[in-house]
Amino acid sequence: MQQRAESFLPGGVDSPVRAFRAVGGDPPFVERADGAYLYDADGNRYLDFFGSWGPMILGHAFPPVTEAIQSAAARGASFGASHAGEADLAELVQRCFPSVKKMRFVSSGTEACMSAIRLARGFTGRSFVIKFEGCYHGHADALLVKAGSGVATFGIPGSAGVPAETAMHTLALPYNDLAAVELAFENHQDQIACIIVEPVVGNAGTILPAAGYLQGLRELATRYGALLILDEVMTGFRLSLGGAQELYRIEPDLTTLGKIVGGGLPCGAFGGREDVMNFLAPLGPVYQAGTLSGNPLAMAAGIAQLSHLIAHADVIYPHLEMTTRSIAEGVAALAAEVGISITTNRVGSMFTWFFTPMPVEDFAQAAMSDTAAFARFHRAMLDAGVWLPPSQYEAAFVSMAHGPEEVAFALSAARQALAAVWC
Ligand code: PLP
Repeated sequence: MQQRAESFLPGGVDSPVRAFRAVGGDPPFVERADGAYLYDADGNRYLDFFGSWGPMILGHAFPPVTEAIQSAAARGASFGASHAGEADLAELVQRCFPSVKKMRFVSSGTEACMSAIRLARGFTGRSFVIKFEGCYHGHADALLVKAGSGVATFGIPGSAGVPAETAMHTLALPYNDLAAVELAFENHQDQIACIIVEPVVGNAGTILPAAGYLQGLRELATRYGALLILDEVMTGFRLSLGGAQELYRIEPDLTTLGKIVGGGLPCGAFGGREDVMNFLAPLGPVYQAGTLSGNPLAMAAGIAQLSHLIAHADVIYPHLEMTTRSIAEGVAALAAEVGISITTNRVGSMFTWFFTPMPVEDFAQAAMSDTAAFARFHRAMLDAGVWLPPSQYEAAFVSMAHGPEEVAFALSAARQALAAVWC
């Protein structure tokens, strides 16, 4: 199957990290997914810890989401015209994210971040953007500078094909270092349009913001007349209903969303302050558009998923917290028993086991991890029926479909994998 895919698709994939280059071996080909599990064409079952890279917070093929998609499809796959589902989903998003006064739907997280940056530049009349090393905001040219995720996995600092002039207005600074941000503002007075940040980094593996860091970014952006964009494509509706901004009590100017918001269908959104959002065409001078934006199937899936999260938030978030803690800390304890030091970074249902005994608070520290050890562990876990994200520089995700049985299965697989690899 891999060979056939490779004869038509570069590397056999449509997104590089799926090729398993960082961990070796051929990736399984998924035939179907249900709850917490993926099934390949040979009938193997895998406990899934990447959840389509985040969207599947309620588990795969969650019946209310599946039914909403089926019923929307029967009414037409795309209109290219306004329909009530757009405002219905927007209302749910706003209920979770009060800072998002107005929003626009797009088809991916990349588009959400790219459009938010353009809007910030248009609104402020400034060109420079501050981003952070190891943070990934999609594959738009200006944002592929010291990005994490696949870009880090493949050891390329940026990407071929990005002209230097395109990237020259992007300032990539170390995460969790407020002094570096202040210095950049001092050196580029009245030139910085915005700071864009993953409030909890997921794309260098999971890295938590130091106490006061996000508040510091908010304060510096305000002081220097720049906008603060929280990229909550990964953290939105995951760390809490209102994402990282609710958890850490930060009010950004703009927020970008993706993954969970579309219930697993191609969908993203960006939104925030009304005066800023009103700069978008057709009201304002910043152009942004999309043939499939606000797609009726994606809106229906998003409405079904968010409605469920909102209705059951009091059960869902504590469950995710408890399950993820048991798995993340349980495996770290097993590793310690056999003399392997790993550093576990976790917030709610996203986590990473870094194969290093040192704390990981920025990308440089993440890059000290023993990626060969991670790769061995990944392969042994896959052999034992657990599918982890195939790179040290990616966060793992837990869903509502993961319960006590899945915790026990993951721990037993890890015991087996650690013994196979290190004894
Ligand atoms: N922003 C963050 C924080 C992400 O994690 C991702 C994707 O993983 C993106 C943006 C880009 O989203 P997409 O892959 O939907 O274009």
